[in-house]
Amino acid sequence: MEHSDSIEKRPKSSKRKSKHKQQMLTMVFIIVVIAFALGFLLGLLVGTKKEPKIEFIPAPAPVVSEEVTAPKEVIPEKDLPWNLTLVNFENELSADFEPAEVAEADNGYVVDARIADAAKKMIADARAKDNVRIIALSGYRDHAYQKELFDNKVERLQQEKGYSVSKAREEAATVVAVPGTSEHQLGLALDLVDARHVKLDNSQENTAAYKWLYQHCHEYGFIVRYPNGKTDITGIIYEPWHFRYVGVEAATFIMEKGITLEEYLTDYYTE
Ligand SMILES: [Zn+2]
Repeated sequence: MEHSDSIEKRPKSSKRKSKHKQQMLTMVFIIVVIAFALGFLLGLLVGTKKEPKIEFIPAPAPVVSEEVTAPKEVIPEKDLPWNLTLVNFENELSADFEPAEVAEADNGYVVDARIADAAKKMIADARAKDNVRIIALSGYRDHAYQKELFDNKVERLQQEKGYSVSKAREEAATVVAVPGTSEHQLGLALDLVDARHVKLDNSQENTAAYKWLYQHCHEYGFIVRYPNGKTDITGIIYEPWHFRYVGVEAATFIMEKGITLEEYLTDYYTE
């Protein structure tokens, strides 16, 4: 039943549909022709219209910040007063440099005569005022002696750790200043330790001597020259025994701010 019914209906409806379809096609055809004609006429009137060029604009190059590895420029040595002379791995003393005059500071060790009294007074005051006993373990060293110390260190590292010469020299340089780069040659540095704890290592920072010096050294013109956490600037490991004379004014500023001599000269010092 369903079947016959659908057969019966189909021709009739398909006839009607195809007629309608034809009319529709005709109309679409006419519209398309008119549209084309209009488009052609419009094109003639306006002329050839250039298609806007889509220019390729390259994306801006990514901004790559320059590496901040370049050493900070420091004030040339010649413009600095004697007490602020900068000696480090970038600022070497000539092999024949020596202080004009030396004088004993403590324990048989000499320093530049101009700072001997300040050093003596500092050590004497620590004892007299606070019963802290400080002893010097190093003062002025000439270039030859510094070279000997350095070469010995290099040799030891090669023997004990099996380092190559270049590796040993690199490692030694963080512990013993390369000849020409030591403040001991300058004559303005002293290695000071507690008389009850005569050791040149980090344990020195827990001694009464270091605690006293850390608090008072600036009053005598001295600074902790190689502070903890500043190795990238000084090139030298933390040395809570190495004190450098820079004069009371600079020392007070440097110790209060907790900076290095390099930072002081670059960022704060004006002639
Ligand atoms: Zn030293």
